[in-house]
Amino acid sequence: MNIDKKWFLEKANDFLRNNEANRMTGVDGSLFWEPDILLGFVSGDDPIFEKYKEVVGPKHLTPAEAYSKYCIKNGISATTDNLSVVAYILPMNSLTKKENLEYSKEWPSEKWAHTRFYGDRCNKALQDHLLEELEKEGINGLAPMSPKGVKKSDYPSNNYLFKVYNYEYSSWSHRHMCFAAGLGSFGLSDGFISEKGKAMRCGSIIVDYKLPSDAANRPPDTEPYNKYCLECGECIKRCPVGAISFKEGHDKVKCREMVTSTIPYINQNYHIPIYSCGLCQVGVPCSNGIPIKK
Ligand code: SF4
Ligand code: SF4
Repeated sequence: MNIDKKWFLEKANDFLRNNEANRMTGVDGSLFWEPDILLGFVSGDDPIFEKYKEVVGPKHLTPAEAYSKYCIKNGISATTDNLSVVAYILPMNSLTKKENLEYSKEWPSEKWAHTRFYGDRCNKALQDHLLEELEKEGINGLAPMSPKGVKKSDYPSNNYLFKVYNYEYSSWSHRHMCFAAGLGSFGLSDGFISEKGKAMRCGSIIVDYKLPSDAANRPPDTEPYNKYCLECGECIKRCPVGAISFKEGHDKVKCREMVTSTIPYINQNYHIPIYSCGLCQVGVPCSNGIPIKK
């Protein structure tokens, strides 16, 4: 079996088309994610992963670190010589984007909130599915952010990180994996802009298998990695609490306050325990693709 991009795209899109995990059963049964994903590869030893320790934070893991920890924890004997990262973008259902734009300037819509909660579960299930399919081909891999991964047990809590670095960061950033795999760039609001637009969810897995790197597709990797952002300021206008500005970019503290303030509303109106917002991801030029300068 040839394990290449076509193989991954077929497995992932079939899953999104057919698996119940991608159905918004709590609303109208529509799909969370369009089965038309964007996917790229990057070698596990790409130098950008060391750079992420400055860009994201010192506890951000390289693929070799994540995979070694996982192997040690699970008694697996393996080297880190052949690692690759598979990163992907799940495009949000266009109806969900439309609803979030129309619904309100202040609170997220029902579909948006369901996508944030159950759509995220689907994303995790997709990662597990890809790993199971790889296992059938005799290839090991790891979803670093899954419960079987390395995140929770090996690193301090987010609260600790929040105090030390004054912002919250993960030990494995899917969005930075997407950047490394040449899928797009960041924007003023910190959202990730790709051909599929900023309204999306991304994911990544580590596989113990050499795959051809797409690093050549990424824009120049100088910080802040924002090549595709027009700096048009439309996302500034969309944010109800002024958490985005030309001067400061994305104020994570203000954003976090707004996002967590949605919990009671979502709980009361949509009956699910989640926070959500994403108002800066809809009704802006980068919502559905890479924006073009006029
Ligand atoms: S709305 Fe404009 S400024 Fe904001 S991220 Fe998109 S392109 Fe950049
Ligand atoms: S997610 Fe909401 S609060 Fe955060 S920057 Fe976007 S619009 Fe503002």
